[in-house]
Amino acid sequence: MQRRLLEILACPVDKNSPLQLLEFEAKGDMIVSGLLVCRKCGRFYPIIDEIPIMLPDDLRKPEDDAAFVRKWHDRIPKDLLTGKT
Ligand SMILES: [Zn+2]
Repeated sequence: MQRRLLEILACPVDKNSPLQLLEFEAKGDMIVSGLLVCRKCGRFYPIIDEIPIMLPDDLRKPEDDAAFVRKWHDRIPKDLLTGKT
């Protein structure tokens, strides 16, 4: 996702904006892998292959979240991991 897109993205659950961006991989202005964090509700949304996955809870796949967390475990702040059940 383009870095400037951050200004218009909002949490799909509570519409909080802007979200906090954690960059794991980037090519110039394009974020390839990363995490969008909503500091209001504590949810996080992965950026996978340049695509921000902004889904409400009922459309999220726990196995996809788990795979992402496994891949980037060392880069994800611990308080995010413990804040999510
Ligand atoms: Zn939120």
